[in-house]
Amino acid sequence: MTAPAAYQRILLKLSGEALMGDQDFGISPEVTAFLAQEIKAVVDIGVQVALVVGGGNIFRGEGLARAGMDRVTGDQMGMLATVINALALQDAIERVGGMQARVQSAIRINEVCEDFIRRKAMRHLEKGRVLVFAAGTGNPFFTTDSAAALRAVEVEADLMLKATKVDGIYTADPKKDPTAKRYEEVTYDEALAKRLGVMDQTAMVLCRDHGMKMCVYDMTVPGALLKIVTGDTAIGTRVN
Ligand code: UDP
Repeated sequence: MTAPAAYQRILLKLSGEALMGDQDFGISPEVTAFLAQEIKAVVDIGVQVALVVGGGNIFRGEGLARAGMDRVTGDQMGMLATVINALALQDAIERVGGMQARVQSAIRINEVCEDFIRRKAMRHLEKGRVLVFAAGTGNPFFTTDSAAALRAVEVEADLMLKATKVDGIYTADPKKDPTAKRYEEVTYDEALAKRLGVMDQTAMVLCRDHGMKMCVYDMTVPGALLKIVTGDTAIGTRVN
């Protein structure tokens, strides 16, 4: 039997790259289907789930600007990329069966999805719908990590999760330094001071200042999300 949920409401940040799987670009249907199953496992035990998805698998404003494009236009393209990813996730989640999903965008794109309206967002979550927040913060020069921190605080999530391909935060890059050690727990102040490559500093400061706890974990491990929301602290790195 599955343990009861340790958190009532979570916000899960998925990078765009997380959706690529083995591809160099775009969205892997296998990965979105896998993520939808992982989400189903936690929805089934009554956890309310909000997602923030990135767009780096399609466009990043910074990269486009480096190639000569106006930065604001590049960021707008990046934000639209997150809407594409959000629609793919909405589709994958509903295809599992037994779950409803809604996309809310920070920029108006009404024929495609809802606008972000906090009170409506809260209502969707209370009704058990999986909510996918798209278009980041709606502003250029920000990241979807910052959007995740912002939305987590706004919807009063009990835990924010950052899904990555490594099983937590390390003292150094484990791919480059074999002596690198994984932190079980770290404070935002330490992560900020040591510039640990977790999230951008804006996102971390927002989480720190509003007491938002975070867990960084390896999303590719089946069952990891369920273990974390049922209180297993041996997985990933906690930041608080
Ligand atoms: N972006 C933005 N404002 C935001 C969030 C995102 O302008 O509030 C743009 C920015 O260009 C960014 C792109 O959208 O590069 C994709 O987001 P991000 O790089 O955070 O995606 P991830 O790395 O998570 O895939």
